[in-house]
Amino acid sequence: MNGRNFIDGRWRDGSSLDTTFNPSDLDEQVGDYARASRADAEEAIAAARRALPGWARFNMQARSDLLRRAGDIILSRAAEIGRLLAREEGKILSDATAEAGRAGQLFHYYAGEVLRHPGQWYDSMRDGLNIIVSYEPVGVVAAITPWNFPIAIPAWKCAAALAYGNTIVLKPSEYAPGCAVMLCQILEEAGLPAGCVNLVMGDGRELGPVLIEGADAVSFTGATPTGRRILEMAAPSMTKVQLELGGKNPFIVLDDADLDIAVEAAAQGTWGQTGQRCTGSERIIVTRGIHDAFVERLARRATSYRVGHALDPDTQIGPVATLAQFEKNLGFIEKAKAGGAELAAGGTRVEARSRGLYLAPTLFVGTDNGMEINREEVFGPVAGVIKVEDLDEAIAVAADCELALSSGIATTNLANAERYRRASTAGMVMINAPTAGLDYHVPFGGRAPSGYGGREQGSAAAEFFTEMKTAYINHGVM
Ligand code: NDP
Repeated sequence: MNGRNFIDGRWRDGSSLDTTFNPSDLDEQVGDYARASRADAEEAIAAARRALPGWARFNMQARSDLLRRAGDIILSRAAEIGRLLAREEGKILSDATAEAGRAGQLFHYYAGEVLRHPGQWYDSMRDGLNIIVSYEPVGVVAAITPWNFPIAIPAWKCAAALAYGNTIVLKPSEYAPGCAVMLCQILEEAGLPAGCVNLVMGDGRELGPVLIEGADAVSFTGATPTGRRILEMAAPSMTKVQLELGGKNPFIVLDDADLDIAVEAAAQGTWGQTGQRCTGSERIIVTRGIHDAFVERLARRATSYRVGHALDPDTQIGPVATLAQFEKNLGFIEKAKAGGAELAAGGTRVEARSRGLYLAPTLFVGTDNGMEINREEVFGPVAGVIKVEDLDEAIAVAADCELALSSGIATTNLANAERYRRASTAGMVMINAPTAGLDYHVPFGGRAPSGYGGREQGSAAAEFFTEMKTAYINHGVM
């Protein structure tokens, strides 16, 4: 992949090149990407601003058709996108291809949202007046995205922003920008007018301030400290901000749980996609009666996974995406061991045929909620089990955490499930299902400091991507 920046409908070289490597095989170079300068970012914002009036007025049927066409092209190229994603980010090929498919479905969904998007009409308290509440585009949107879902996240931000009449400057993670390049190629092919979507690649710390100051709104997904920094940077210009941030998601297993369901949901939530999901389970809270049987089964499940090259069809867990993340994961493991946590599975590097960033699915037991392993987001295939007495204690431990994105419970008791659904402080609650794994037609997100500024996905996305206008109309008819 030779990726260039896309500004005002033209593909442009940058000041230098950034290279990406395959985390399944660090000896393999995947892409060279043009690095955008601050001046490029300024030009991208200006291009998006010039394109805005035309796109905001673009015929709604034509806009819907265009988004549907983009979805069609994504779906027809899902295997190609999935392969690039697997090579650049390390997601196993089946998951990577499915993620590309999800991106296509998101464009189809938002093609429908263009036509479904409502306004409101009210009678007035004053005779002879009516009131219309309409929803207008918020304007130029900067979309800043991480490496862990490099096609789905750019897709759900761009599809929603475009559906509601906004123009975009997309800044993907420098670790995996290839899918964002392909997305912009596809939007161009689908017929999107010049300037409606722009792509700038490079260092977020350098480009971020230009985008945040110049855009009307910033939709960001990434780490919580970065989100806080963006919020601070947005304050002087009062740029509208939406943040989807980290999680430290609890999964509770009660004595009355179905053991098969509990083990599989915990395993998928913890180790699926190498644990690199903000909704992944990182704290497994288990009541005393089921604890030993559950832990024994879960540890066995951890060691059953085949860890290896993302393109190998037998692989179930791919590599860690970046060297920095890999070293961070190992650091958490060492500190947990030193702090007295007992290793029940994994904890070590896995040797494979290629020079990849392979980490064994890791499970700690005998941990408590005060340990670093249960307080800091690891963002890797690592979780700690916390033993508790009952549901009351489980609820208290689950809530004793700053982050509040997703949560889950395994129980066969309806009343226990409902108690937890109500008590959970997280933005999402999963009953007998992994904490990770989402539908795209419903709201997605957490409470601060896991999320801020309105939910993404579904029709809830309109809250962030539009501004309300209230019009009072004196028509003179009583
Ligand atoms: P980062 O926050 O480091 O990076 C995310 C994006 O922000 C990248 O494009 C990055 O650019 C950019 N960026 C970095 N610094 C700044 C800055 N000062 N101003 C503007 N942009 C900046 O996160 P990662 O990419 O490392 O992703 C992992 C994190 O994201 C995890 O903590 C995870 O929990 C969270 N996450 C949350 C999700 C959610 O929906 N809640 C979903 C996915 C991930 P650059 O390329 O230079 O790094």
